[in-house]
Amino acid sequence: MTDDEFTTPIYHDEDADVSHVTDKTVAVLGYGSQGHAHAQNLADSGIDVVVGLREDSSSRSAVRSDGLRVETPAVAAAGADIVSVLVPDTVQPAVYESVAPGIEPGDTLQFAHGFNIHYNQIQPKEGVDVTMIAPKTPGHLLRRNYTNDEGTPALLAVERDATGEAHGEALAYAKALGCTRAGVVETTFREETETDLFGEQAVLCGGIVELIVTGYETLVDAGYSPEMAYFECLNEMKLIVDLMYEGGAMEMWNSVSDTAEYGGLTVGPEIIDEGVRENMDEALADVQDGTFARDWILENQAGRPEYDQYRTGMQEHEIEAVGARLRALFAWADAGAE
Ligand code: NAD
Ligand code: MG
Repeated sequence: MTDDEFTTPIYHDEDADVSHVTDKTVAVLGYGSQGHAHAQNLADSGIDVVVGLREDSSSRSAVRSDGLRVETPAVAAAGADIVSVLVPDTVQPAVYESVAPGIEPGDTLQFAHGFNIHYNQIQPKEGVDVTMIAPKTPGHLLRRNYTNDEGTPALLAVERDATGEAHGEALAYAKALGCTRAGVVETTFREETETDLFGEQAVLCGGIVELIVTGYETLVDAGYSPEMAYFECLNEMKLIVDLMYEGGAMEMWNSVSDTAEYGGLTVGPEIIDEGVRENMDEALADVQDGTFARDWILENQAGRPEYDQYRTGMQEHEIEAVGARLRALFAWADAGAE
């Protein structure tokens, strides 16, 4: 497929002009997974970077030893043209309130995920550009790919273009992160937020853990050993996913036995059946109409009682203990693979 066969624009180095950001100061709020990588990649691309962290933040010394300036979020934002909001999504509204006075018309608020803008938890004042560059990897890989002269794919969205320059500036920011080396895919805050939430709930984090645990429990309840159930349902998952990641579903089907292929093709749709499809439709509807977002915001306001209960339930599940014992036995395998 060539680029003009894709359904959405994908930008590369030649499409981006980094001079849109080299004359600007970027305040990076937060120095966690994304924050440290954005700050260091931008600085290495010749951009004036200031990191915004609370006075009592334990990350302040890391910022300084990485050779970067650190101020409070309010001071950093007030002196910046672009404010990159890279604190956890749940604390962004409060952090935004504390920096809002320093964000003037003509400045840019930049995000790596659309939740708080899409669900109106942050309402930037008029005249402020609102953009997103969302790298599709954890921050340590964003940093490593930059220093290795490799690229990291990213999503780009412009929610509000008050200056007429938001798109070019976002693309320049992506280039300075090293993302246009790989490809930057155009999307919207709505599409990024809703697909991200649905994906992590239904397929990636939620769906796959429930599939594994339900398969494990089915075998153990039928009298098979927990060790066998663990290997079959959890350990082998990575091997199968790696094959699909490399070459699509057909590479996986071509690599397994004909028996596995016939059984998988015929029984798979009986497991993931119309009922599952209806459940997925409901999960997506809850994301789209804001039900999930409201529940999660209220859950945080209440001190996360349900979240803690589910986490404890998972920590105490037998598959976790069995897995920990088995992984300790085979720790050499992972060490050797690195
Ligand atoms: P993180 O949890 O790794 O780091 C957040 C940092 O924010 C902390 O290290 C700290 O420096 C600071 N912080 C924490 N609490 C704070 C508070 N109350 N006040 C001020 N500062 C505080 O966060 P992250 O995973 O880098 O996520 C940042 C943004 O990037 C989010 O919008 C997230 O959705 C998005 N994102 C993350 C990833 C990823 O792989 N982690 C990928 C793409 C996008
Ligand atoms: Mg400012």
